[in-house]
Amino acid sequence: MIEAREVFPGVHHLTDAMGVSMTLLQGAGRAMLFDTGYGLENVRERVLELTDREVDVVLSHGHHDHILGARWFGRTYLSEEDLEEYRLRTGRAQREKVAAQAAGKGLTVPGDFLTAVWPEPVALKMGERICGFESLCSDLGDLKITLMKVPGHTPGSLILYIEKWGLMLTADNWNPCTWLWFPSAIPARIWRENMKRVMAAFPVRWVLCSHDGRLFSRDTVDRYLQALTDEKMNQAERVRLDERIDTRQVCLEREGMRFVFDWRKFRR
Ligand SMILES: [Zn+2]
Repeated sequence: MIEAREVFPGVHHLTDAMGVSMTLLQGAGRAMLFDTGYGLENVRERVLELTDREVDVVLSHGHHDHILGARWFGRTYLSEEDLEEYRLRTGRAQREKVAAQAAGKGLTVPGDFLTAVWPEPVALKMGERICGFESLCSDLGDLKITLMKVPGHTPGSLILYIEKWGLMLTADNWNPCTWLWFPSAIPARIWRENMKRVMAAFPVRWVLCSHDGRLFSRDTVDRYLQALTDEKMNQAERVRLDERIDTRQVCLEREGMRFVFDWRKFRR
C-alpha cells in the first residue's frame, strides 16, 4: 500500500510499503513525480488515483529505493552522472536483495520482479546555473519548480525547490540520518558546502526528504549543517556497515540526528 499525505495543496508525499517516500506535485497544467520508490507496488496506478494531469517522472538519484518504481512508467528522467548507478541498482543482484528484504517484511513481490526489463531513463538536460549548480526551471501551471543538480549523496543527486510553498525536496541529499558512505558518494566536506550553498540560494521554509515522512522546518536543516563541524567529523566514531568501507558517524544532539560518511574520502 502506498500511503499518500497532502502536505500542501497540490503536494502529496507518498510512502511505499518498504518505507521510502516520493513526492507528487500537481500544477494546473501538469504533474511531476519526484522518485518512484522500491517498485514492488504499481506506483503509476496509485499516482493516477491522485491526479488526472500528465505526469513527468524525475528520479532524484540512481539508488534502487528511488528508481525501481520506474518500471511502471514509460519514460523517466535522471542526471547523466547517475545513469551508471541506475544500471547497477536495477541489476539482478540488487533486485534479489530487495526481494529478500520485502519477503522478510511479509510483502508480496511481483512475479516478474527478477526478470522484468527496466527502462533506461532519459538524461536530464539542464541549461541554467543557479549558485553554480546546473538547474532547470519549470512551471507546472501555478506551481513553479526548480530542479538542481547538487553533488553529494551521489554525483548527480537532484534537489527540487517549489517556490509557492518555500518547500525543498532534498531526497537523500539530506535526511535526519544522512548517508554519505556509498561508493558513489562525494567527500563529506564538499557535500556540506554544497548543501549550505543551496539552502542559502532560496527562501526555503520547509523541507521534505526520502527516509522520514515528517515535514521539517528550514531551521532544522540549517542547524544540522552548522553542527556538523570539521572538529566533530574528525572525532567521528567508527560504525560497521560494510567491511570494505571505513564508515564513521557523527551523532548530532537533536532528535537522534546522525551523519554517516566515508572516512577515507573525508581525510583525502
Ligand atoms: Zn540514496
